[in-house]
Amino acid sequence: MTRTTERSRPHLPELTEWQPVDGLPVAPSALVWRRLRRAGREHGWTLTGVVGLYGIAALSALVAPWALGRIIDTVRAGGPPDSVDLLALAIVGALLVNAAFILVSVALSIRFGEGVLAELREEFVHDVLRLPLGTVERAGTGDLVARTGRDIGHLSHTVRNSIPIMVVSAVTVAVVVVAIGVVHPLLLLALAPSVAVLWVSTRWYVRRAPDGYVRELATYSDLTQGVTDTVEGARTIEALGRQARQIALNDQRVHRAYLAERYTLWLRTVWYPPLEFSYQFPTAMTLLVAGVLHMNGDISVGAVATAVFLSAQLSGPVERLIDEIDSVMMGFTSLRRLLGVGLAEEERTAPAGPEPTAPGTVEVRDVRFAYTDTEVLHGVDLVVRPGERLAMVGPSGAGKSTLGKLIAGIHPPTSGGVRVGGAELSGLPPEERRRRAILLSQESHVFRGTIAQNLSIALDGEEADEDALWKALAAVDAEAWVRALPDGLATRVGSGQLTLDPAHVQQLALARLVLADPEVLVLDEATSLIDPRSARHLERSLGGVLAGRTVVAIAHRLHTAHDADRIAVVEDGRISELGTHDELLARGGAYARLWRAWHGD
Ligand code: ADP
Repeated sequence: MTRTTERSRPHLPELTEWQPVDGLPVAPSALVWRRLRRAGREHGWTLTGVVGLYGIAALSALVAPWALGRIIDTVRAGGPPDSVDLLALAIVGALLVNAAFILVSVALSIRFGEGVLAELREEFVHDVLRLPLGTVERAGTGDLVARTGRDIGHLSHTVRNSIPIMVVSAVTVAVVVVAIGVVHPLLLLALAPSVAVLWVSTRWYVRRAPDGYVRELATYSDLTQGVTDTVEGARTIEALGRQARQIALNDQRVHRAYLAERYTLWLRTVWYPPLEFSYQFPTAMTLLVAGVLHMNGDISVGAVATAVFLSAQLSGPVERLIDEIDSVMMGFTSLRRLLGVGLAEEERTAPAGPEPTAPGTVEVRDVRFAYTDTEVLHGVDLVVRPGERLAMVGPSGAGKSTLGKLIAGIHPPTSGGVRVGGAELSGLPPEERRRRAILLSQESHVFRGTIAQNLSIALDGEEADEDALWKALAAVDAEAWVRALPDGLATRVGSGQLTLDPAHVQQLALARLVLADPEVLVLDEATSLIDPRSARHLERSLGGVLAGRTVVAIAHRLHTAHDADRIAVVEDGRISELGTHDELLARGGAYARLWRAWHGD
């Protein structure tokens, strides 16, 4: 976008300029409407109650303009002062009724809003937790962070504030318009010009705004992603001396967010002036039309006053109604983004009929994979037998970890297939996939909570009985120290609580695996980060986890490879050698060279 066009009328730039690469999906509007209709059905009675109570409040608000008109007519006709007093009392009474009904209906509408919001939030958290790691990695965590933060914020604002305000205002407008028509139908003509202007200008705005907001929120996601990347990768950026480039990239993101915001701001700038006109004009027009009707003898002076008061009462609710359109559209867009997270999973899950093959068999068939445009794996074939230990060795960057992630079902292959126990992993729901294969990475995290909760994470929310937990701990040699803790399984750990030493953290991670009980384990340098003093001990723990499972280990230390049943040498995205340690040594190829280099002969 050039400076000149920027200075003139802002345009909505092309999608390619805006969309962060491969963000999470955004749900189509139809899906949002379906979800909202469901909320309407489920909370139908509360909603009817809110509208009904507001209706009564709005009706009671009509008493004041009507009574004022009557007072004027009574005084002009020299009527009794008593009836004037009564009318004044009626006004006070109506105001009290109005206040009481508004109070009750506001309380009810807050209940409704909070209920719907809580449901949507729960669904969102559920969707997020089901998200395959590969999808999050591809989309960037920033997108997810923006959705959890900003989008939930927008939606909360819309549901808590905008929707109740719009319901009240719409009911009030409807009641007041009918009342004006009752005073004299021709008075409705006075409202016509404002309705026309409101209609045309709002239509213009509403047609352009949603795209603008989708783009605006996407640029925020992109911006959050940029900041997350910069903070997480700060050391790498510094080490490579890429600070200037990173700043320039983030500047571009800020600029894109600025352009997106500028566009929606421009839309509002065009839209607001006609709105102001529409709010103020009806009162003047009503006075004019009512005056003419009075001169023709159609209505009394009091009725003129009633009509003018009524139309003045209209401007407040109309203004609030229109004001909230923006926020409602923002909320709608946010809801599209929040519901979109649920679609990520559906897109990913491809139908594939499982075929009977022994549990624990890994079959990799002609697998190709690319993170971005560059292919990293170029057609890998590999079969690992049930219970076999396979070590993957090879130069750094050859694709070992990538192949490991594919075998654990974290990424689906770009082409080809990965089957575990006969089922295509990418066709399985996440829980089922985790039962087949799990990747144990170098990082293990202790969550804030009890030891029991930390272990139960492996079970997808199911409650594990204590026996199973103790068995899992015993399998990884961790039973003794947990028993020695003051509260045993109920001991609270994690940030701010008891700090566990790194070897114990690893053991908890291993015990989780025992509980999760997958057929296949992929170990990505699982023990390489462990402090050498505890390494021996942990290898015993690891032994407890590996028993009876197929294991694919990404080996950085050749002695682990040596212990494996077979070794696969990965070079440049392909398996170049495959066989036992002795076979490969005899072959005199890449593995033999590595082995000799390691032994220094
Ligand atoms: P290895 O485990 O053998 O060291 P990897 O599987 O980690 O190799 O990496 C293979 C290639 O894929 C490398 O060129 C690496 O830069 C690239 N790569 C790894 N992870 C990602 C990622 N998340 N996004 C893009 N490229 C990646």
